Amino acid sequence: MSLPALRGHALKPPLQPVQPKPSAEKKPARVFLRFPVNADTKAFYRRFFPGTSTAEWNDWRWQMRARIRSLGELSRIFKLSEDERSAVERHQGPLPVGITPYYASLMGLEDPAEPLRRTHVMSSGEFVVSYGENDDPLGEDHDTKVPGIVHRYPDRVLFLTTGTCSTYCRYCTRARVVGNPGGEYQFSTSQWEKALAYLEVHTEVRDVLLSGGDPLTIGDDKLDWLLTRLRALKHIEFIRIGTKIPLVLPQRITKDFAKMLKKHHPLFMSLHVTHPKELTEEVMESTSRLADAGIPLGSQTVVLKGVNDDPALMVHLMQGLLRHRVKPYYLFMCDPIRGTAHFRTNVEKGLQIIEALRGHTSGYCTPVFSIDAPDGGGKIQLAPDCIVGRDGDDLLLRNFEGKVYRYPDPGGSVGAEKKI
Ligand code: SF4
Repeated sequence: MSLPALRGHALKPPLQPVQPKPSAEKKPARVFLRFPVNADTKAFYRRFFPGTSTAEWNDWRWQMRARIRSLGELSRIFKLSEDERSAVERHQGPLPVGITPYYASLMGLEDPAEPLRRTHVMSSGEFVVSYGENDDPLGEDHDTKVPGIVHRYPDRVLFLTTGTCSTYCRYCTRARVVGNPGGEYQFSTSQWEKALAYLEVHTEVRDVLLSGGDPLTIGDDKLDWLLTRLRALKHIEFIRIGTKIPLVLPQRITKDFAKMLKKHHPLFMSLHVTHPKELTEEVMESTSRLADAGIPLGSQTVVLKGVNDDPALMVHLMQGLLRHRVKPYYLFMCDPIRGTAHFRTNVEKGLQIIEALRGHTSGYCTPVFSIDAPDGGGKIQLAPDCIVGRDGDDLLLRNFEGKVYRYPDPGGSVGAEKKI
């Protein structure tokens, strides 16, 4: 049975119809869409999407069209709590519900407290506005020079390419602009042209971060076009892409897509990762394809209360990322976005996580812990204080086991202000 027939209504059209590239050698769809499917996910899709072929399931455009986007679809799959149900009913505006069937297959169907479900299904906490929260805590609107270009740091810009994501995270920093109700933001040549014109004259910009929304929701040809235009600007030394798709829609990383990206080096990718449950066979495939295409992969993780704010879990996550060829890059405190107090924890928790990593496991596993300062202050790095004090020419340092060691530092003054 096809999906539209199963649900009794027509599916939305694909977000962006993409013309297949002419290819001398036409591959059969089955081979083209080959992708691993883990056992739990297979059981899930047989139960909730009966009649869906593996080729359909592995087709990222099918996953986009079949996203869970309404109360009816959520209730068909999840046993919703009263709190979740009323929050979904009450919600208006941007940041709608959106979950790919693949990502839903990793979530707890019965338990509202299950970590991945908590990050994607609304709850009443979203309607509570707490101290210090606002819609644009990082002051991005203030630093927007032309639509889509946030230019805050001297040599780099943030390029917001789209307002569409494959899944909508309930703590999103750009909750104000993603998944707008009037129709998800579509590719607009005129907007991108304005952004490119800005970059053309701003020759001080050497680093462009493509973000959104999720840039990987854009079709191959359009993204190829944008990357080619950016590459034509000689002062832009490298491009980064910020995305969650390799974790929530790994099927998006087709071999052709990875091959296309390979043309645009140096190209880096920052993957938004939340929890060890995300590290599946499918994700091993998506990150391997990207790494094999020569793209350095780094992770960004937000510390979220009751989701991943546990030092042991974070050690497990960071070690798992390295196995998936992703270097743990940033650990962030959650930005004070309106209605996110139920996700935020204290800075001590982040420092405890770093303490649990540093020295206890490979240095490659330890991300940089940062706060993106409100009102456009930028990223501020935090680290546990390892300087205990000073004894004459010796600096006293605490190691990962809490033992104090002396480092000869004649003439130095660091640590002198601390009482031993
Ligand atoms: S994928 Fe990124 S941009 Fe999209 S909702 Fe999640 S955090 Fe926001």
